[in-house]
Amino acid sequence: MYLETDALVIKTTKTLNNDLFLTLYSRKAGKIEVVANGAKSSKSQLSASSKPFVYGHFSLNTHNKVTKVISSEIIDSHYRIADHLETLAYGNYFIELCNLVTMPNMIDVQHFQLIVEIMTLLSNSSKSVGTDQQLDYELLKLSYLIKLSVITGHQANLQYVCTSCSGQENVLYFSTQAGGLICKNCEGTLYKGVKLNETYLKLIHYLTIKDIRVIMKTKIHENYVIQLNKIYEDYIMFHNNITEIRSKSFLKSIGE
Ligand SMILES: [Zn+2]
Repeated sequence: MYLETDALVIKTTKTLNNDLFLTLYSRKAGKIEVVANGAKSSKSQLSASSKPFVYGHFSLNTHNKVTKVISSEIIDSHYRIADHLETLAYGNYFIELCNLVTMPNMIDVQHFQLIVEIMTLLSNSSKSVGTDQQLDYELLKLSYLIKLSVITGHQANLQYVCTSCSGQENVLYFSTQAGGLICKNCEGTLYKGVKLNETYLKLIHYLTIKDIRVIMKTKIHENYVIQLNKIYEDYIMFHNNITEIRSKSFLKSIGE
């Protein structure tokens, strides 16, 4: 069997020989593990496309137990992501998270297009790092986290009906464990919650429905972005059983 698909390289793993294992997030087959024979050698035709962040067209042989890359063509290498520590740190975070929240062989074109767009935004923004035009990377991260809550089937309940008791009075607190807003009675007794005013809820709604490119042209005060990033990162980790995001320490080390 052969498969031709566009895919993003979300992870590479070295082997003892010249081969590389690639984790691809593909349009037609979701997340798949493949081997690129000889790709560790710079002479190999597969070498240039066997790098993290590469978006390419891959021809795969799925006949054997391990799927093999027969040939590949780069659509966008997103090489500029590696030009700055900042873009590299965020890039690593995004592809690690993409890998952590996806199940093998589950096709999701919406998620696929989103992560490719994020890579393109990040790569193109590399030129503006340190200028006034710099992309708001924390907003990009928050948008991905919020959209992931929908993509992974864990969208938070943000209606003014308590997620826990269905009460409609004082539904003001966001609880990760409960999966959305809870009331004053349930907060502190059944669940721990963070008080969120209407501006926060409107912002979450906006980031849920708007296109990522439109969002990135919007200015949003950093206080909101910081607070919601904390909430939604915990939320995604909790509901997807993620115990650690390794690239977080890299992000922290560069002061993000
Ligand atoms: Zn309640």
